[in-house]
Parts: sequence; structure tokens; C-alpha cells
Amino acid sequence: MASEFELIRRYFTRPAANAVLGVGDDCALWSPDPGMLQAVSTDMLIEGRHFLAGTDPEKLGRKSLAVNLSDLAAMGADPRYALLAIALPAADEQWIASFARGFFAQAARHGVDLIGGDTTRGSLVISITVIGEVPQAHALRRDAALAGDQVWLSGATGGAALALAHQQGRTRLAGDDLIACLARLDDPEPRVELGGRLRGFARAAIDISDGLLADLGHIAESSAVGIDIAADRLPVASALHACADADLRWECIAAGGDDYELAFTAPPARQAAIEQIGVELGLALTPIGTVVPGAPRVTLRDAGGQPMKLARSGFDHFGA
Ligand code: ADP
Ligand code: MG
Repeated sequence: MASEFELIRRYFTRPAANAVLGVGDDCALWSPDPGMLQAVSTDMLIEGRHFLAGTDPEKLGRKSLAVNLSDLAAMGADPRYALLAIALPAADEQWIASFARGFFAQAARHGVDLIGGDTTRGSLVISITVIGEVPQAHALRRDAALAGDQVWLSGATGGAALALAHQQGRTRLAGDDLIACLARLDDPEPRVELGGRLRGFARAAIDISDGLLADLGHIAESSAVGIDIAADRLPVASALHACADADLRWECIAAGGDDYELAFTAPPARQAAIEQIGVELGLALTPIGTVVPGAPRVTLRDAGGQPMKLARSGFDHFGA
């Protein structure tokens, strides 16, 4: 059986295009660009909690890096480097090779060098750290929303959560709807290009990983503002239109995680510029609400402006 060092050499060592020193020494070395802030973030994926046992390793490789790149995108940072700490139950080389193929394919799409990590035996856990760069004063922080801003959402919401509900037997999807929703769940697209393009246009941003309302709640808290969302303006996954269970539909739309779209706020004067960015990227960007003065809250309002009450508003690993 291959040793830990053999596995690292075979599957996780690639020439680093931009770092001074990549995998193989006690530390990696890189040189930050002048005038740039370094942005760093870690996300962990645990078998049985974030993905099902038996998940296709190549998709897992792509997704585990994607969810980390999504955090950089939400900060308006350009991805540069990644570190991969992985615990593996066994040295299953076919599994590791597929995982590495997915990981490096995602890395290549976004110009990311894998510059280090750790490899150990244990229950399957993948912990990735990403490093990016953002020009000083242009980071899209959660505490930067101002009353009067428009609230925007990229893409559409609810597809990943609907796929999860299908896997849990709570609904039945078929055909194109099933394919589209599973792709959202298993193979999310980090909105890296959008994050970069929003620098100088958006004020606050966040990626939707725990549910639209819960994540907007983080902006509301950090910025000390209220947020009103127009329920009838929300762009939703097309499979949700056919979902007859209204509670499940609203749960997926407003509380479903894992979509990895960006929600952001921007002054109304930026509307035309933001619409133009959406056109250039071929990505729907939809104004879904407004930032208002007052105590931190997020309110989903129906077409008549009345607050809607939802059974679940987001995902919390330590919640009920
Ligand atoms: P150390 O004992 O100094 O921590 P390791 O034996 O853990 O070193 O790792 C050797 C080298 O391989 C280091 O440069 C480390 O960053 C890198 N490395 C280990 N595991 C991975 C991995 N899964 N992906 C990328 N690099 C890794
Ligand atoms: Mg180590």
C-alpha cells in the first residue's frame, strides 16, 4: 500500500504556477502583490454531514474547492492558492485519483495553485483553506450595507435544497428537473467572476450556503440594518414551479442552503451597471429587495407587502 508521502507525491503535488514554493517543504511561500489585501477562508466537508457516503469522488473534489472559492467570491477576492487537509479511511488510490482529478479541474478553472496541506488516516473529512487577493478598500464586507441599498441575488435559489429533499424522500423529482437540481447540489458553480466584477459596484456581499434569509441575516446583523425581500421577485429554480407542497417550496427558496449564489447590496444608482455585468457574464442578476434603517432583521414580504411567516428560515449545524 502506498505511504502517506507516496500519496502526496502522486496525487497532490503539481507545479505551482504562482507561488515561490509549493507542496513539499515545511511551509509554502508566496509573495503578495503590492496594494492587495490577502483574503483567507477555510471550509470543512464531513462525510455523513455535508455529503453522503459513496458520493462520486470527482464531484466531491470539485465541490469541496467550489464551496471555498465561493467565500472568496463573496469577498470580491480573486482566488490564488489553496491548502488541502484530508483524512482518508484508507489509501484507496482509485478514489484519491478521482478526487484529485475533480479538485485540480476546479483549481485550473480559477487559476488556483495547491500549495500545501496535510494527509492523514481517519473518517473522511476534507478541509480546504483558500487564499485570494482583493484590492485594498474594495473587499465586499458583510458590514458595509447601507439603508437605501438595493439587494440583489445572482442565479436562482432553491434548486440544491429541492435535490436534497428528493434524496431524503420528501418529494419526487424526475427528468430534467432532477438533473438540474442534482447539478446544483453536487456541482455548484462558485460565482468567482461575479465577485470580482462587483468590486467598486456592490457594497456588502455574502454567498448563500445556509439559506437565503439566514445568510442575508448576517448582512443585516453586521451592518445594523433591516432587509425587506419581495417574495414575488425571487428568482427560483424552475423545478420549484412544479412543486405542489407550498411549505416545502418556500423552505427550499428561502431557507435552503447549498446554492452558492451571491447576495449583495448596492446603491440604486448602480442598477444599470450591475444589469450590464449580468449580461456580460450571462448570469441572471435580480433585484430582490431593499436595505432599510432600523434593528437588524430580514423580512420576506408577499405581493401585498405583508410579512410572510416561514416554518424554517435557514440551516444551523447546532440548531434544532
Ligand atoms: P509536515 O510533517 O512538515 O507537516 P507533511 O508530511 O504533512 O509535512 O507534508 C509534506 C508536504 O506535503 C508539505 O509541503 C505539505 O504541505 C504537503 N501536503 C501534505 N498533504 C497534502 C495534501 N493533501 N495536499 C497538498 N499538499 C499536501
Ligand atoms: Mg503535516
